[in-house]
Amino acid sequence: MFPAIGLVIAVGMAVFVAMPLLARESGAGASLPVDVTPLADLKRRRLVVYENLKDLEFEYQAGKLAAQDYQNLKQNYLGEAASLMAASQEAEQLKETDALLEREIASRRASRKNLSPQDYVCPQCGFENPVPVKFCGECGAKITHRPSLT
Ligand SMILES: [Zn+2]
Repeated sequence: MFPAIGLVIAVGMAVFVAMPLLARESGAGASLPVDVTPLADLKRRRLVVYENLKDLEFEYQAGKLAAQDYQNLKQNYLGEAASLMAASQEAEQLKETDALLEREIASRRASRKNLSPQDYVCPQCGFENPVPVKFCGECGAKITHRPSLT
């Protein structure tokens, strides 16, 4: 067999193997379940890249791939993995910030619902403390809670 024909077959095989993956990749966008977060999507794509890297390694070890092609493809995949990793970290931070804000809002809502603001009016200076406090935000006097919290 001529080397050139071997190469054509190898490329053809690679495309043939990659096609279902690519098709799945592009088709996934249309029927994306609602609960798939961008973060989960990034993780999935990272797994795909790692999977490809493993395949690449395997094919190179099996002698199906020229060293130069192997290096090029590997650099491509590693670059992709790195950018996906960075994107994930960004998304993770955003998610944490969101969670923090949600907790903050929830606790403010809860405190507004359960406690009337009068409970935190300073007996010393009359300042209405907007959040549950032990000591007045204005003068520092101890806030005595009224027992009628029912
Ligand atoms: Zn006060």
